[in-house]
Amino acid sequence: MPYIGVLALQGDFQKHIEAVRACGREAKEVRTPEDLRDCERLIIPGGESTTVGILLQKSGLDKAILERAKENMPIWGTCMGLILLAKEIEGREQWGLKLFDVRVIRNAYGPQINSFETDIEFRGFQKPFHAVFIRAPIISKVGKDVEVLASHNGHPVAVQQGTLFGTTFHPELTDDLRIHQFFLSL
Ligand code: GLN
Repeated sequence: MPYIGVLALQGDFQKHIEAVRACGREAKEVRTPEDLRDCERLIIPGGESTTVGILLQKSGLDKAILERAKENMPIWGTCMGLILLAKEIEGREQWGLKLFDVRVIRNAYGPQINSFETDIEFRGFQKPFHAVFIRAPIISKVGKDVEVLASHNGHPVAVQQGTLFGTTFHPELTDDLRIHQFFLSL
């Protein structure tokens, strides 16, 4: 299973593909359960979680992803991807994969600062990581098996639960490959 799958139903998948290739690995756009079959791990990019939730169910990828998650395939959700992985979305009934023991609040940074950039400390990194947040969710609660790898203003912004990884920001929008390399090493 040579490929790093990048869910490509909607949203900013192209930048992840470029980052994976810059890390020296083969990336593949995933739109169907068949596409996922020869992937060893999966990135779920940013985008619109309600739209992609519907497309995941229509394509049958919802079941395929849940199946592979059971076999501990590493999955990384950035922003929307993390919303789709979360067990709970605060204040609304919205379909999700419900794998990651976190609670998220969508678009939680408010209209004025819905998008912003800041340097964060990421566990194990020598130097700060420049993080780009775009209409990002806030993680309002994490389960006991969830490790917080980075925080901003007291809220977790990078989390790990076994082979599941989530960031509320977009590492694919910078040239810094450290977080992609971290995911590829999981
Ligand atoms: N605001 C989007 C949502 O709630 C997520 C934004 C993003 O992925 N950058 O689905």
